[in-house]
Amino acid sequence: MNHHAEAFAPPQEDRDEKRNLVGLTRDQLVAEMAGLGEKPFRAKQLWHWIYHRGVTDFAAMTTLSKDFRARLAETFAVRRPAVGEAQVSRDGTRKWLLRLADGNEVETVYIPEEDRGTLCVSSQVGCTLTCKFCHTGTQRLVRNLAPAEIVGQIMVARDDLGEWPAPAEGRQITNIVLMGMGEPLYNYDNVAAAIKIAMDPEGLSVSKRKITLSTSGVVPEMERCGRELDVNLAVSLHATSDDVRDRIMPINKKYPLKMLLDACRSYPGTHNARRITFEYVMLKGVNDSEEDARRLVKLLKGIPAKVNLIPFNPWPGSFFESSEPAVITRFADILSAAHISAPVRATRGDDILAACGQLKSASERRKKAERETTLPAQL
Ligand code: SF4
Repeated sequence: MNHHAEAFAPPQEDRDEKRNLVGLTRDQLVAEMAGLGEKPFRAKQLWHWIYHRGVTDFAAMTTLSKDFRARLAETFAVRRPAVGEAQVSRDGTRKWLLRLADGNEVETVYIPEEDRGTLCVSSQVGCTLTCKFCHTGTQRLVRNLAPAEIVGQIMVARDDLGEWPAPAEGRQITNIVLMGMGEPLYNYDNVAAAIKIAMDPEGLSVSKRKITLSTSGVVPEMERCGRELDVNLAVSLHATSDDVRDRIMPINKKYPLKMLLDACRSYPGTHNARRITFEYVMLKGVNDSEEDARRLVKLLKGIPAKVNLIPFNPWPGSFFESSEPAVITRFADILSAAHISAPVRATRGDDILAACGQLKSASERRKKAERETTLPAQL
């Protein structure tokens, strides 16, 4: 475990608490069953009840003997993060403020569209990176999420949308994006464990083609992510020069554009039908010139790429402005003329601060507001 993962590791489970079976890998579940003197097939049965049926009460797992269910309930639990607040936007977007066992909070967002339903999942409480356009970036990193707290977000959303057992067809949650709070590649081991649970065909069964991991550019972990998880990659690019990217995304000082784009060129499994998505927030007068657009075309040469243009979503205390719609259209035209698909992302859920870059746990906002009100007047 690297120093970062160690320093921000999720808390160990409280010994007095019953062990949570959510978030365990299949092998860990088999080991727990062996601890009860049970054979590996028990783990398979439990996996089905927990991840396919979404059941949290052992008593309801009717294919298991009553005696076995009682023994399970003595030692184990099937827990999800608690829902502190659930909001629904006027455009149907949903946001859950989830309260973790140690009192920390994270946010998860569901965005329904015509042809899909995307769940935006968080991977850390706060973030170490301080991207200047991102609300989460103003919240210092508190800790990494455990696999149970990451996969638990999918389960809470399914509970709320009534999506158990996991339907083969007509699902509401069709896509999972790790684009919520935090940098997922700075919590790789826990994120990887959660993704493997989500992809398991006998449980939540989310296809790897429907999972996208978004990184701000943690180059060393990108290749590993592609090789081990083979999920789609999204890269928070947001600038076309190191000078600008250094200023709005400090991680660029560690992994500058050339290094990042080289890592994209060698990301396993990309091709024309499976492109890397580059996130590009449109900041007025910062990164939205025609020259920027032309430079972006050059930078992406040789990379199967799609660019998501994101009008900037202001948040309390932010100092950027979104580019004018005409500027965004002109930018998109230059990319399309170079055969780079450049859809403009519709702003969703901004009335409940659920839009891109707006996530920050309510308690942190409250604390900040309280701090501001108690500051002496003369400051
Ligand atoms: S954009 Fe991502 S990496 Fe950057 S501060 Fe926000 S959550 Fe962190």
